[in-house]
Amino acid sequence: MKEETRLVSTGRPGVDQADDRRALPVNAPVERASTILFPTYSDYLEGVRSVRYGRFGTSTHRAFEASVTALEGGHSTRIAPSGLLAVTAAILAFVKAGDHVLVTDSAYDPTRTFAEKFLRRFGVDVEYYAPTLGAGVAALIRDRTKVIFAETPGSLTFEVQDIPALARVAKDAGAALIVDNTWSGGLFLKPIALGAAISVQAGTKYLAGHSDVMIGTITSADARVASLVYDSLSQIGSAASPDDAYLAHRGLRTLAVRMRRCGETGLALARWLEGRPDVKRVMHPALESFPGHAIWKRDFTGASGLFSFVMPPMPEAAIAAFFDALSLFGIGFSWGGYESLAVRVRPERARTITPWTEPGAVVRIHAGLEDVDDLRADLGRAFAAMARAAR
Ligand SMILES: *Cc1c(COP(=O)(O)O)cnc(C)c1O
Repeated sequence: MKEETRLVSTGRPGVDQADDRRALPVNAPVERASTILFPTYSDYLEGVRSVRYGRFGTSTHRAFEASVTALEGGHSTRIAPSGLLAVTAAILAFVKAGDHVLVTDSAYDPTRTFAEKFLRRFGVDVEYYAPTLGAGVAALIRDRTKVIFAETPGSLTFEVQDIPALARVAKDAGAALIVDNTWSGGLFLKPIALGAAISVQAGTKYLAGHSDVMIGTITSADARVASLVYDSLSQIGSAASPDDAYLAHRGLRTLAVRMRRCGETGLALARWLEGRPDVKRVMHPALESFPGHAIWKRDFTGASGLFSFVMPPMPEAAIAAFFDALSLFGIGFSWGGYESLAVRVRPERARTITPWTEPGAVVRIHAGLEDVDDLRADLGRAFAAMARAAR
């Protein structure tokens, strides 16, 4: 089955669930529950059923998990109530006091804060590595290195990581490679096929796709990893809402069409921006000019709608004028919805070993589903407002 067919046909009632009804809705329904009633005492004693208590998820979660597993590849998927909890529970599945974790210096800021403030507090040693280090990360491995955490491309500055090389290092070290795969939506990169132990996503972004759901997904490569993830999520009391699982599952049905469109529009905007005198540099993995392009081309099958560009140094008032002149691009956190966004990001605040010293504001764009000419015109008006304010 091709990918787009799988996205539409997995996790549906009667398709891969036991159901004795003869007529079924298209979508797996929202099953809300704390208590699940067992038909007999021996069913209750048995304990290991796919649905047994609300916190562990209901048939709504199981259906969404089946679809994410089909998307990401691998053994199985578990749902978390946010992307950040998917990241943190995945890391916690492998570490204890005295262990060592390697985190990419390009990691999503709250991931870094978790490593810095939480892992360290529990005696886990955290070390950052340059996102483009690749096989060179082997030099940082210690006896107690348990996790290599990667995010590709980095969600502020888009460094593309060499996942197969990191996977080989992790394997030799007996450590787990965890990849934050949010940028690709699971559609354009398959970390598990490239050797990762875990692929996590903020399903909040492209999977849900409509800017109205918080959810995370953790897909494990094999049964051993899946069991560690299950223990981690259940021991910290994670419970994702069935309504959110339902909405994210509905979003996943249109993932491929949305992402291809966001990707096309994003690349068209990136090329247009690259040609402008009021843009210094565009950071988009699919641009031939971008340093990570060759690895992106080797490992990814497409680009999502998220990228950044650097402005020439500019008075703060001119930067403010740029953002305030936008009308189609919203100013707000997150991305991956149907609507376009533009935010200023500050990589200089989120790094340790690869300091960001490039002058000029960094602007991150999420290309949504609007018409590309309208989006270009909106940005054009913002650049004009910026120029007026800079005069
Ligand atoms: C948004 C995001 C997260 C966290 O997801 P939430 O659902 O907001 O908790 C993690 N990683 C990346 C790369 C993200 O962009």
